[in-house]
Amino acid sequence: MNEVQKNSIPKEVIWTLNELQNAGYESYIVGGCVRDIYLARVPHDYDVTTNATPEQIISVFEKTDRRVVYENNFGTVGIINKDLEKNHPGYEIEITPYRTEGNYSDSRRPDDVSFSTDIHEDLMRRDFTINAMAYDPIHNSLIDNYQGKEDLGNSVIRTVGNPDERFSEDALRIMRAIRFASQLGFICETETMTSIKKHAASLANISAERIRDEFIKLVDAPYAKDGMVHLHKLGLLEYIVPELLEGVDCEQGGIHSFDVWTHNIKSLEHGTYKEYPFYVKLAALFHDIGKPRTRRKANGRGSKEWTFYGHEVVGAKMTKEIMRRLKFPNETMDKVVKLVRYHMFFSDPDAITLSAVRRMIKNVGKELIWDLMDLRTCDRIGTGRPKEKPYRLRKYHAMIEEVMRDPISVGMLKINGDIMIGEMGLKPGPKMGWVLHALLEEVLDDPTLNTREYLEGRTRELFELEDHELKKLGEAGKDKKDEEEFRAVKKLHRKHKV
Ligand code: ATP
Ligand code: MG
Repeated sequence: MNEVQKNSIPKEVIWTLNELQNAGYESYIVGGCVRDIYLARVPHDYDVTTNATPEQIISVFEKTDRRVVYENNFGTVGIINKDLEKNHPGYEIEITPYRTEGNYSDSRRPDDVSFSTDIHEDLMRRDFTINAMAYDPIHNSLIDNYQGKEDLGNSVIRTVGNPDERFSEDALRIMRAIRFASQLGFICETETMTSIKKHAASLANISAERIRDEFIKLVDAPYAKDGMVHLHKLGLLEYIVPELLEGVDCEQGGIHSFDVWTHNIKSLEHGTYKEYPFYVKLAALFHDIGKPRTRRKANGRGSKEWTFYGHEVVGAKMTKEIMRRLKFPNETMDKVVKLVRYHMFFSDPDAITLSAVRRMIKNVGKELIWDLMDLRTCDRIGTGRPKEKPYRLRKYHAMIEEVMRDPISVGMLKINGDIMIGEMGLKPGPKMGWVLHALLEEVLDDPTLNTREYLEGRTRELFELEDHELKKLGEAGKDKKDEEEFRAVKKLHRKHKV
């Protein structure tokens, strides 16, 4: 390593390596961090490997002021440098004894893991040549048995040893290969690529959680679109998100130059370019996923035009199923589903009313409104022939800003349950909720009605209504609309026998 590369290693890491060596053991930084230093990328953590056993590692660091954590996870001992920020790469340094891995009978996890005293054995079990280098900065010695440095120089992902063997040991490596290629802008070496294709079906043995974690990294990577193309070309996508395949060759006509699949990944590409948050990029990838299932001929059989009525409703449902299956946290799932569900808003600033904009914000929520605008940008650029002019979008954004000052949830009404009970002497109960929603509906149409005086008078009138009448008034304000639309789309499907 040159001086610049060596100097990029945090002093806490050097200190850790030194403590082990002073106690008579070998120590190296290894794997991802060595790869990242050579690529002039900042490693997100540093892994250390050594010929000491976990007990020996613990006894070396117990004598220091560092906090030592040991959870018996494959023998890894964590050293905490609590003076550093938690997100500093040197905050927790993980030290793992050299390991060999035994047989892999289920192409997932090794049946047994045992420690070794030979660094070469440890490097042999690692997945790719670029991840199989160990470096000792104290003696400036690099162990690179598989030409990892050369592969880094050539931007190539290549398995350590025979790819067929390595992918049958652990099928997750298939996804890792494409993920690293997407993160680094690398290509898979021919034999590795051929083998990935051959072993695609073994992805079915991998747990949803492990697939999800790799998929997240891929979608979040700088070359995410290329990664998606590879998942498709190599036959991997059907084990991850098969629903996306329905869009391949699904022509759209009209202003669209691309099939649904290409449009989805091009939208993702724009999200990557703009560095939008992960959930917006995922929404861009999924936003038209419901189109193939809703595609109909526009004017009967002979027509060349297509319609996709309800594709955002169907797409939101599919998105939810996919994200449930992949065990995404609910918070992320809710955001992506909402963005997909509401991406079809009408945004012609000359033809739209402020109250329509207000309803749109109420649907998707204030927190997501700007993400929804970003998704629209992805959608626009992803068509190849953007249908909206940016100045119109800017005008629309100005309308949103204007409307954001007005109430869009019952919480922003100038009246609430406490006032109704405490000051107006009304009885608490479900009626109160319906009244509030009915009031919100009125105020959404005309924000000038949001005064204490008007709302009190209107509350007294509404309390006189029968329950069912009141419910109906407030209903539009709740999320019943969704269900109705689902039902309508279902009917449509039945009619067309799909
Ligand atoms: P990242 O930047 O994503 O953390 P990384 O290379 O550090 O990349 P990790 O998943 O943290 O990846 O794994 C650390 C190291 O362990 C890898 O560099 C590789 O040497 C080895 N490794 C991880 N997973 C596997 C696997 N499934 N098969 C073989 N070796 C693996
Ligand atoms: Mg890592």
